[in-house]
Amino acid sequence: MKYKVEVLTGIRPTNNLTVANYLGAVAPIIEIQKQGMSPVVFVADLHAITDKEPAIIRQCVHGVVADYIALGVEPKKTKIYLQSDIIGELATLTTFLARHITVAELLRVPTLKDKLKVNMHPETANTLLLLYPVLMAADILLNRAKKIPVGEDQLAHIEVTRMIAKRFNKKYGEIFPLPEVLQVKSLRILSLKGEGKMSKTNPEGAIFLTDDPKTVTRKINSAETAFEGVMNEKLESHILIANGLAKTELERDEINAIIKEHKDGKPVMGKFKQLFAIVTLNFLKEFQIKRAAVMRDPSYITSLLKEGREVAQKNATETIEKVKEVLRFI
Ligand code: AMP
Repeated sequence: MKYKVEVLTGIRPTNNLTVANYLGAVAPIIEIQKQGMSPVVFVADLHAITDKEPAIIRQCVHGVVADYIALGVEPKKTKIYLQSDIIGELATLTTFLARHITVAELLRVPTLKDKLKVNMHPETANTLLLLYPVLMAADILLNRAKKIPVGEDQLAHIEVTRMIAKRFNKKYGEIFPLPEVLQVKSLRILSLKGEGKMSKTNPEGAIFLTDDPKTVTRKINSAETAFEGVMNEKLESHILIANGLAKTELERDEINAIIKEHKDGKPVMGKFKQLFAIVTLNFLKEFQIKRAAVMRDPSYITSLLKEGREVAQKNATETIEKVKEVLRFI
């Protein structure tokens, strides 16, 4: 069968995005849009219920759509659907695909192995965690998606999808086109405090898209930088954020000029922080105004999700009909 969706990507419906979420997860979608491709984005509510209550996840759906639109996802170019809107087809395909990967192979998927070692335990993690790579394969194969934008840490998931698809195709005929990786720049934004990645779990080191100007200024003022003339990974990360949030070439030129002075040994960290704060506040102000406007019109969000559902449903139905036919499971 043929490819249907050019680029597919999922987003987790979680509240309170940080600028690291924007730079790491949303900016790549906007870049893909700019390159003239038409991505399809799904709100991954079924993945999110692995460790959250379904009712709570449902409450986040409209908010996350509003976040993405306010951040620059253009509904004219990018279709957005809710994963659970095609739950029947997804559950069906997950069942048929799960037969083509062993429990041992799943336990060797690096992201899963890490999670079970670091913040989850086989005795307490539920089985959706184990099934995550199969459900992800079903998301991709149901849409017959050609390219999947992923950072390095997610490459193994696409390998799993390709492996399952190859095994299925070998047995039942060429049903699934093999998805390819669309490698996106994987950024690692550090906490403003310098310890580890910027994350929601350490709010003082993170800039949230909902933060008010006073909070942002305080966090940036107390951010750790580097000694005069020295470059370290904390300062590099701040520059990455400032450049990523800058809306104009002029702002970027100013940032680069200050950093050049810094490298020449001049004491410019105060000036840098001031500019870092201005750039961030400009970005957040525009975002917050746009988001509020989108949220004021829930029927608009509903209509976008309906449009997305129609596309996803059509692809899903076609794929499932074909799969059932070759499995003689009609
Ligand atoms: P999380 O909020 O941890 O569920 O992350 C959602 C997505 O945001 C991840 O898959 C990354 O693409 C991106 N992300 C989160 N934290 C960072 C970070 N510190 N640096 C870069 N990207 C990040």
